[in-house]
Amino acid sequence: MSSVEEYRTKCTFCSVQDDIILKRGPEKAAFFGGNSLFKLYYDEKSKRGLCPRGNFTLELLNSPYRIRKAELFGEECSLEEAIKDSVSELKRIIEKKNNVAILISGNHTLEEAYLAKKLSNDLNTELLGLFPFEDEALLSVKNDFSFMTLGESDVAMIVGDVFSLSPTLARPILDARNKKRGNRLVSLDILKGRVSLFAEHFNVKPGYMSYFLSVLLDYLEGNSKLKSNETFAGISIARIKELAEVLRNSENGQILFSNIYGHFVNPYSIVSKLSRISEITENRFAVIPIGQNSLGVGRIIGGFNNKKIMDALKEKKIEGLIVLGGDPFEFIPKFEDIFGYLNFVLSTAFFKGSNSSECIIPSTFSFEKKGSFISLEEKIVNLGEPVSPVGDAVSDGDFVSDLLSALSGAKVKARVSVPKVLPFMKETNEKKPSSLTNKKYPFVAVGMGLPFHHDRGELSRRVKWNQQKNEPYVFINTDRVKELSLGGKVKIETPNGSSVFRIEDCGNLPFDIPEDIIAVPVHFTENAQLFLCDSDSDGIISPGAVKARIVK
Ligand code: SF4
Repeated sequence: MSSVEEYRTKCTFCSVQDDIILKRGPEKAAFFGGNSLFKLYYDEKSKRGLCPRGNFTLELLNSPYRIRKAELFGEECSLEEAIKDSVSELKRIIEKKNNVAILISGNHTLEEAYLAKKLSNDLNTELLGLFPFEDEALLSVKNDFSFMTLGESDVAMIVGDVFSLSPTLARPILDARNKKRGNRLVSLDILKGRVSLFAEHFNVKPGYMSYFLSVLLDYLEGNSKLKSNETFAGISIARIKELAEVLRNSENGQILFSNIYGHFVNPYSIVSKLSRISEITENRFAVIPIGQNSLGVGRIIGGFNNKKIMDALKEKKIEGLIVLGGDPFEFIPKFEDIFGYLNFVLSTAFFKGSNSSECIIPSTFSFEKKGSFISLEEKIVNLGEPVSPVGDAVSDGDFVSDLLSALSGAKVKARVSVPKVLPFMKETNEKKPSSLTNKKYPFVAVGMGLPFHHDRGELSRRVKWNQQKNEPYVFINTDRVKELSLGGKVKIETPNGSSVFRIEDCGNLPFDIPEDIIAVPVHFTENAQLFLCDSDSDGIISPGAVKARIVK
């Protein structure tokens, strides 16, 4: 009798890497019925369960919109043909050093990151970078975190909306808050988010988080007496002192940081200060990246190269681009202009976008491949047994391996070692930032995540649950909408660009939107293009909140 197929693997959507189980069977049933389809389960040993995004896994697995065949210039072809064509193009352009850039997503395994590094060597380039871009700012942090101790922390200070970006972390964090009277949950953010509903919330002005933390740090280090009646970044001195005491007096505290595109300005400075604050106050500190394994991938590829890559693309200094695990038209603002002059663009992707690279390789999700990740707890974890991929889809590891063989004639085997954390770069400067609003731009556009969307939406936007809201939208304070007599749609302009958006009902959010904020869910390409994708004063490409106006 044929047995039930069961695959134990990891959720593909975020760095919490919750365990999932995919089951179907029996495989050789004589007829097609409900048993022939995969069902999704979570591991009952895990108390966290799965969030709405985790439940999208089945739709990703079965989606009719997955890319199933390789394509060259829009025509389907075999993988061998795609590799042959790519090798002949690449051999022509790699004689010049740094003439090709490679961007790899944080959803890859350690083995795939190793192969990408080898590919960059063989392609004579140091331009190897990580996306989602906002995860690069986290690479100097070695997490001090465990799910068990998180659930027992007497103080949790959450910077950013962890509950929206990694929803199952809400459970241990709320367990910790409720464990004993006196346990504290503190939220620090530039917009009230889902954490703020359960926490003592400190609303820092957009663009000021790094500055606010430098004031707190100075106070903790005894360099500032904070005697005046001033407020810093929108927070009174009394509250800054209170926060300092909460952190100092904790016995078993945890500080967590998470960011999303268009949200925090200077995130590298923010994590550097949080790291120092955690040392002084003897609390644990950890970052929660967007990508499943951004910490592992980023450490293996090494360096902070995204600025160099984006500069080279903008200044038309390179001829080729390889994107592993995403569509450059989706996550590189104004890529249409860049695409026009590049001679070679290859991407491995899951879904076809409205534009496409000249060579597309159908790729696999983590539940369709083998390999290992670095967990939030800094352990090497194995992905488990994979489900068979759809069509001709291959893991990026297998694809890069074949590409390397075709380039050099030699077989390459991926090696796994514990990658080193990148040391913090120079001390970041801290002067008081200028306000993001002015007469011409009275609003601030702030990027936000929604618990049912992942990252820039390339995955979750294309599944059934999310297709109901298939147009770009923003949230604007309801009183401001009335005061400005705004209709159902509005044109928003920032120094980076403009676009027309539907105004979504703020009643659909569990928290208020301040009067001067335009909250921008960043899962639509149009929304993400509002933000400046230039390097910040830390030299990091990680777009933050930006001044904005409504054009009538
Ligand atoms: S929090 Fe949600 S998206 Fe993240 S791993 Fe868990 S189930 Fe997946």
